[in-house]
Amino acid sequence: MCDEQTVHETLATCPGLGSITVCPCGTVSLHVGGVSVRMEMTAYMQVARMCHLAMLSLDNQMRTVAQAITTSAVTH
Ligand SMILES: [Zn+2]
Repeated sequence: MCDEQTVHETLATCPGLGSITVCPCGTVSLHVGGVSVRMEMTAYMQVARMCHLAMLSLDNQMRTVAQAITTSAVTH
């Protein structure tokens, strides 16, 4: 496991939200707000895929809501 002194490479940042860094040992750190979650590279890939699937589900829900609003606007 890596220590705090190890130089991490920043993979991505989002101002006001956080960042994602990777350690030379392959540990990926996800920093959001004041919380940091460390995980192995393969686990991070699974998290990334899970988030992508969640976004697709959210997108479907948004479309359903948007359609419902449009439909009700037409019928009124
Ligand atoms: Zn490390």
